[in-house]
Amino acid sequence: EAKRDPGTSYRFYDRHLHVSAGYQLRLEADLRTALRGRELELYYQPRIDLATEEVRGVECLLRWNHPERGLVGPDEFIPVAERSGLIVPIGYWVIEQACQRLQESADLGFPGLVFAVNLSFRQFHDRKMTETIFRIIFNANVDTSLLELELTESAMMHDPEYAQRCLRELNQLGISFALDDFGTGFSSLSNLQHLPISLVKIDKSFVQELGHSADAEHIIRAIISLAHSLQISVVAEGVETEGQLEFLRQQHCDEIQGYYYARPMPWHDLVQFLRSRGQSACLQR
Ligand code: C2E
Ligand code: MG
Ligand code: MG
Ligand code: MG
Repeated sequence: EAKRDPGTSYRFYDRHLHVSAGYQLRLEADLRTALRGRELELYYQPRIDLATEEVRGVECLLRWNHPERGLVGPDEFIPVAERSGLIVPIGYWVIEQACQRLQESADLGFPGLVFAVNLSFRQFHDRKMTETIFRIIFNANVDTSLLELELTESAMMHDPEYAQRCLRELNQLGISFALDDFGTGFSSLSNLQHLPISLVKIDKSFVQELGHSADAEHIIRAIISLAHSLQISVVAEGVETEGQLEFLRQQHCDEIQGYYYARPMPWHDLVQFLRSRGQSACLQR
């Protein structure tokens, strides 16, 4: 959500309204400071397995604790970070932080929790990507089978040969891949069948159309059945209502993620959340 500045008519860091060079530079400078000064923080949103009703894993979502503006969401600063190239060091910081939490989660009594991290287009095409990720996971000494990277169709399909090489290299280290925001691009799952993708995330725009549009139902059904025929699991994003949940359950969707179950939350809240539900968190609320 864009934060509205109550005293003025503009929105903070709006990528459509504020395109002046000076503005960009200011935001970039702020972001550099943020990266150095520990203003960035990861929030964690649980992902629930519909068959076992357990928390399978969490998606790591970046937040910026801006000293004057409060909590700023990624939709407001990632486009700028992407344009300036700052997304590359920021993205590596995110992976390091996720690995650290992954280690901690086992010590806290939650082994087997999957940590999913988003990789942007620019980051994926960084020349040193595979070698840097290799170094990070080597230093962190984590169980790489619990690390999942989320990429969008456009990041994967821009240069399919490159994508295939990188995904295979990282997959050989144990890392798995999810296709994020599926359905919003124009590629088809069959384009992706040669890539080591184990999960598809249905974009929340389809989930939120459930009950309002028969097309959304048909699209979701088709995605689930095609993914399953390719041995790919499906996560539905943006599940907010019981009705959406029930539809997805009937369609044998594997996992759900959404406000219905839990919002993204700071690490300490996540630990409380997991504890309060015991190891096998269930859907009772
Ligand atoms: P995404 O990867 O598709 O993440 C899911 C987004 O949906 C998150 O938004 C999450 O808070 C939101 N969401 C989850 N459940 C619900 C729901 O029930 N209703 C609604 N309305 N929204 C829900 P968020 O955290 O604002 O992140 C937005 C996007 O920013 C992410 O979309 C991802 O593309 C990007 N992003 C976030 N963190 C990172 C990061 O560390 N690196 C990169 N490169 N991108 C990131
Ligand atoms: Mg994602
Ligand atoms: Mg998504
Ligand atoms: Mg998205």
